[in-house]
Amino acid sequence: MSSPAQLSLVDETARLATLERLQIFGTEPESRYDLIAKLASRFLQVPIALLSFIDADTLCVKARTGIELDRLPRRHAFCAHALAAPEGCLVVEDTHDDPRFADLPLVVGPPGIRFYAGHTIYIEGQPVGTLCVMDTEPHTLTAEALQTLGELAAMVEKLLAARLQAIEYREAMRRQASLASELKAILETAAAGIIRIDAQGRIQSFNRAAERLFGYRADEVQGKNVSLLMPAPWAEAHDGYLERYLRTREARIIGSGRDVRGRRADGSEFPLHLAVSEVQSGGETHFIGIISDTSALHEAMETAQRANRAKSEFLSRMSHELRTPLNAILGFSQLLLQSKREPLGERQRRHVEQIHRSGQHLLALVNDVLDLARIEAGRLSLSLEPVALRTLLDEALELVAPLADEKGIRIHDHSRAAPPGRVWADFTRAKQVLLNLLSNAVKYNRPDGEIHLRVLAPGEHEGPAGQWGIEVADTGIGIDPERLDELFQPFSRLGQERGRIEGTGIGLVISRQLVEQMGGQFIVHSQPDVGSRFAFTLPGTAANNVIDVPNLRLPTLAGRTILAIDDNPANLSLLEQVLGGEAGVQLLYAPTAARGIELATERRPDVILLDIHLPGIDGHEMLERLQRQARTATIPVIALSADASAKAIAKAERHPRLVAYLTKPLRLDALMSALSQALSLAQEPQT
Ligand code: ADP
Repeated sequence: MSSPAQLSLVDETARLATLERLQIFGTEPESRYDLIAKLASRFLQVPIALLSFIDADTLCVKARTGIELDRLPRRHAFCAHALAAPEGCLVVEDTHDDPRFADLPLVVGPPGIRFYAGHTIYIEGQPVGTLCVMDTEPHTLTAEALQTLGELAAMVEKLLAARLQAIEYREAMRRQASLASELKAILETAAAGIIRIDAQGRIQSFNRAAERLFGYRADEVQGKNVSLLMPAPWAEAHDGYLERYLRTREARIIGSGRDVRGRRADGSEFPLHLAVSEVQSGGETHFIGIISDTSALHEAMETAQRANRAKSEFLSRMSHELRTPLNAILGFSQLLLQSKREPLGERQRRHVEQIHRSGQHLLALVNDVLDLARIEAGRLSLSLEPVALRTLLDEALELVAPLADEKGIRIHDHSRAAPPGRVWADFTRAKQVLLNLLSNAVKYNRPDGEIHLRVLAPGEHEGPAGQWGIEVADTGIGIDPERLDELFQPFSRLGQERGRIEGTGIGLVISRQLVEQMGGQFIVHSQPDVGSRFAFTLPGTAANNVIDVPNLRLPTLAGRTILAIDDNPANLSLLEQVLGGEAGVQLLYAPTAARGIELATERRPDVILLDIHLPGIDGHEMLERLQRQARTATIPVIALSADASAKAIAKAERHPRLVAYLTKPLRLDALMSALSQALSLAQEPQT
């Protein structure tokens, strides 16, 4: 006999997959299928009927009548042919006449089948099995009988389709149940508190973390209003808020997160972060709140803030302590260098110059560290006013010119081509930034290099609209693009720490912070070995009142009385050296505030130089006392202090006769100009 027909037209893999999903192959008998087999045998009046399914190589009987048969190798089965029959139906009236079947075991052996009619069972278009009838006698099948067989096969298909649906439904339910239990486990074991409420604000679920956070058991809060977990005023506002949200959809917390406060069962409160999302389930609106306790975070932040304050405090105290001895170092080295009476020898001069330079470097460092500490502590106060860029540029250029000359670097000031505008800025701070950029452009330039200074009008730079920019471009060593980020990290010198160029690595950090605090932006472009372009922008102003930089006159001290109130003998001796050399000047000293008041009242000096940090009565109180007494109220005062904080300055400035607030270490030129200002206010000398 020929081999059984192969299901060449059928995608065998897909067919087997469908059969597998049916979960019917090799299963126990089921009465509904048995019934159909019986009906087939009765309606078609043949003794044998079978419902069988065929997998890759076996035929497996699901229901039978008139024959004891469970399994057959697929190649011995009529049904394998029926499966591939084009009409889905195969009728063999006499097996002895058909060479395909004549030598099948069921034909040659018991029961000796002579007649076969089978109908293919399709599920989702795949032939998975057959419903067939057989006899040991040859038959001719009427068309009606054939149709009946087809209808019974269709019934089996319906039953199987329902079976498949039931299986898939069960599978979906199982998946859902496992998902639900997984979600429940996640919900229960989540570190964050998770609370679900309904549209009326009633608690529907409350996980274990929520129990821990709030100190309630889930069953205690179930069905209660969630406002139970909030302190006033949130508790009162919550219902209204929920109701308004549902009406207007205007969200304050829903869909986002917020830092709020929670109330525990014992009435205590704690800070928490709440993220709420809205969910629709079963046609109802629910809200799910995810809660994390932020107490630890708050505590950590407070500790960090405290530590930061302590650090700033320490830095500011340290720099104050450093400034006082520096005052003496810088002052006396200046005196030694300037002394005409006892000029220094060449060697001595070099040494003293070295002391002076080092002192200045130390002073710059102390100032930078103090600035940084103040900026970090948010204590830097700026006094913004309209500033003419021209003045700013001129002053900075004048200061940097000697440094550039020394290194043979040419500065091209392109800003002269067009009249630069005015900006809102703190003049001193803006100058500090520009000086930092110019001196970096000199320091990190090549020998005989160039610097191009430009003013960029609004729109000529990439910074914010309406702002003016100042750009310093150099032809120097440039910066590796990968290290650009490090520029603004304190004390980072990008490898220069190993070189010979002096620096601290904080200038740019401070500069950028200052620019940003003045509302501007810092811009950097650089190419290694080609050069760098640093720019900063500042908000423009339409105001006309450009500040005047006063012209300084050197004071004539002859016939004047100056009272210095200072407890530090080194400071007094420095003042004596500075002022005592002037002809006709009378210097009075008071080491304490009490003595200072006495002398001021008795002698009515032309100027009082007042150290703000005095033991006992401090300088600020001293200022008030001087102001209260008619005899001393009009005497101009110059304050000397190591405390350069804006707060201290502002406090001193309340005194109406305060001419200047000079910070230590004293700059002689600043002292001279303050004195000249003070003396011009004082009455004419009594001769
Ligand atoms: P300092 O110059 O005191 O080291 P800054 O904060 O001003 O500190 O600069 C930080 C670092 O950035 C410098 O050490 C230097 O490596 C680099 N840098 C700054 N300006 C330039 C420049 N114009 N060209 C090349 N490198 C620069």
